[in-house]
Amino acid sequence: MENENKEFIKILKDVESGTDISIQNLVALLEAEEEQEVVALFDAANRVRKEQVGDEVYLRGIIEFSNYCRKNCKYCGIRADSCVRRYRLSYDEIVETALNIKDSGINTVILQSGEDLWWTTKRITKLVSRIKEETDMVITLSIGEREKSEYEVFKEAGVDKYLLKIESTNKKVFETAHPDDALTYRVQCSKWLKELGYTNGSGCIIGLPEQTTFDIANDILWFKKMNMDMIGIGPFVPALGTPLEDDPAGSTQMVLKAVAMTRLLCKKAFLPATTALETLETDGQRKALNAGANVIMLNFTPQQYRKDYQIYSNKKAIGFENAVKTIEQAGRIVKF
Ligand code: SF4
Repeated sequence: MENENKEFIKILKDVESGTDISIQNLVALLEAEEEQEVVALFDAANRVRKEQVGDEVYLRGIIEFSNYCRKNCKYCGIRADSCVRRYRLSYDEIVETALNIKDSGINTVILQSGEDLWWTTKRITKLVSRIKEETDMVITLSIGEREKSEYEVFKEAGVDKYLLKIESTNKKVFETAHPDDALTYRVQCSKWLKELGYTNGSGCIIGLPEQTTFDIANDILWFKKMNMDMIGIGPFVPALGTPLEDDPAGSTQMVLKAVAMTRLLCKKAFLPATTALETLETDGQRKALNAGANVIMLNFTPQQYRKDYQIYSNKKAIGFENAVKTIEQAGRIVKF
């Protein structure tokens, strides 16, 4: 056992220093189960986080401004075939919500929706221009796959960051979960976003059908290769009324290990402690903060729409005060 532990610590050091980030080493760390080893992994990630990006935890405000979607991702509660009540917020409602976020002290708004083509390039441009003029906030857009020319226009209109998760870099896992999508196009979109100078966000889901530890290790290597700026890693949480409603949820422990590994490889990235993790495990966000995470996203979608934006079921509502408490309990500093 002692020898095995020494071997584990050597692999951990090699990965942290970048001496050997072979897939075998990443898999060995992700598969750690001995408590001592898992603690060593989280401690290493927490130390790297402190050295590289400090103690601040960044708060972001999300507005889920439309739940219309043209796609049928198998895990998603707002997929095109679901019978959820559809809504689109008006320009005024979105700007007013952005002002609420700003009033709480948060300076970054995340505009998130399904793949809703009613929101044309022209309409998004109008929305972004209004938010910039009336709030001067940093804007993150998360509206899925579009053409390169559209990403160009959004950038010119004032969008600073774009969040488009890869979900899985394994073609079979990706295309099984996303029957309307091709992995090559998703990757292409991420490359365009990088080329266009966005602060580029990605992420993956832990626990998709047929996903292996090897796949998760490859996802993390891909984030590093792409030099991703923001990486959201959360568990698969089954959504009622979807083809995956009876599938088991992803392992929260594997999510925490993947967050820690991502911090070791992508040292300066923004890593959220996700709401999905907190949904499955009380104290999940605090645990993620102690395993390398440094962002918490708060939902500011007006109350009357929230129940219709359940990408997964029983999504936990994390209030502003709870988030601040979690950050303070982790011994960290709230950063707006
Ligand atoms: Fe649409 Fe996104 Fe849900 Fe897929 S995950 S169905 S693109 S909202």
